[in-house]
Parts: sequence; C-alpha cells; structure tokens
Amino acid sequence: MSHFPNAKTVYGPVKSWRFGLSLGIDPIFETSTCSFNCVYCQLGHIQDITSKHKIYVATEKVLSDFKEVVDAGTQIDVITYSGSGEPTLAANLKEMIEGIRKISPNLPQYILTNATELHLPNVREALKLLDKVIVKIDAADEQLFSRVNRPAPGITLKTVLAGIHQFKSEYKGEIEIQSMFMPMNDKEFDDYATIIKDINPVAVQLNTPKRPYPLSWHRENRGNHEGIFDYEVRELKVITPDRAKEIETRLTEATGLKILSVYR
Ligand code: SF4
Repeated sequence: MSHFPNAKTVYGPVKSWRFGLSLGIDPIFETSTCSFNCVYCQLGHIQDITSKHKIYVATEKVLSDFKEVVDAGTQIDVITYSGSGEPTLAANLKEMIEGIRKISPNLPQYILTNATELHLPNVREALKLLDKVIVKIDAADEQLFSRVNRPAPGITLKTVLAGIHQFKSEYKGEIEIQSMFMPMNDKEFDDYATIIKDINPVAVQLNTPKRPYPLSWHRENRGNHEGIFDYEVRELKVITPDRAKEIETRLTEATGLKILSVYR
C-alpha cells in the first residue's frame, strides 16, 4: 500500500523482489501516456498513444513531492522512473534526475523504459545519468511486436533495437532487459535469444502477467498493488511455472546471460 496519496508524482515505496524498497517517480502523471499500448499494461488501455515529447508535469512538483518523502524519513533503497506511461517522453526528465541527485546524491536511480526513444540524443544524455536502465523487449519479430506492444505509428522493433545498441555503446551504467512472456509470444525462442545475447545486458528478467489487466486508467495502478479492484478488469493468459522454468533454462544455455524468472 502506498504511503503517499494519489495526488503525488511519487508512489510507494514498493517492495521489489530484486531491488528492495523502490520509490516510484512518475514524470507523466496527468493521464496515461505511452509510445506503446501493451496488451498487458497495468495502466489499462493507454489514453494517449504518442511519441510526443513535452513537459507533462513540472520538475518543481516532482522534486517537492520527492523531498516530502525524504523529509518524512521514509526508507528508500532505490528510485525508479516509471509511473503513468513512458518516462522518456517527459522533456524535463534530465532536470528531474539532476534535481533528485542533488537532494539524495547516494540514492541509486533506475528507469523502466520501453526504449522507443533511445534513438534521440537528448534522451540518451538524460539516461546516461542513471545507475541502471531497464529496457523492455517482448517480441523478436515485427509482427509480434505490433501485436504485443501495439506501438505509436512509425515505431518498429528494428528502430527500438538500434536505439538500444546506440545507447549501450555510450553508457557506463548497467542495462537490464525485462520481458513479458505470455502464450502469444513464448515460441520465438531462438530469435529472442539472439536479440538479448547481442545486447549483452547484466541481467534479463522474465515476467508473466500475473495480475489482472484493468480496462481503464487508475493512478493507483502505478507500482505494485494487491490485486483488489473495484473497477472492470480482464484476466490475461499467463505462462505456467513449468514453462517459465523451461524458458529460463533454455535462455541461460543459449545466451550465457543471467536470466531471472519472476516465478523463482
Ligand atoms: S510500455 Fe509500459 S506503460 Fe507503456 S503500454 Fe507498455 S506496459 Fe504500459
């Protein structure tokens, strides 16, 4: 349960099974806005599917919300930019990162991104200030990419992967990959293994949509929640623990990378 109310651009901290107590930072905030509209998105059907970069919420509000949490003495192990959509669409993301660094210089800063904007130099400049960048890859071909991630016009898997490689060649921090596996995308093993091996991240986290999919946007769905809703939801097909184990084993053998399954 969040300690801070929904009128805030920070949420949580939520207990992450990998990173400890993670305070979410929401650079989008007003409506759900993303360059993807993933079939499993916890924000429901994205209200504004766009690649438009602009200031969605003032840096001052984010910094003052963050400072309130710090001043309250809340325990935080890491902050993660995520929230109501794709954080790299926020034109003031770099300002937020720098401002938070000034308030809490030693706090690790991570981002969850769909990587659609990494082809842009100013986005790469902002993300280079972070300690860890976690990119989403759910598909190994364009057709499946369109079906699972349902991107804004003009975005292709090819451009996303090119952006990730460009960023990787310039970045000194850690890159991780997060992938959502469902029965609709768990077959293209070899191509997926080749893609992640080429990127060579420090880890790959495999998820499956264990929570129901809300049909509309509710701000409280940022971060973790307890799966209790008073609004309409739909269950998604998940992969079984056995299948997850099989994928994890096969990917580990095929790539030599550190593969972590949410079912562990
Ligand atoms: S990239 Fe993230 S925020 Fe955007 S639609 Fe997909 S799951 Fe939702």
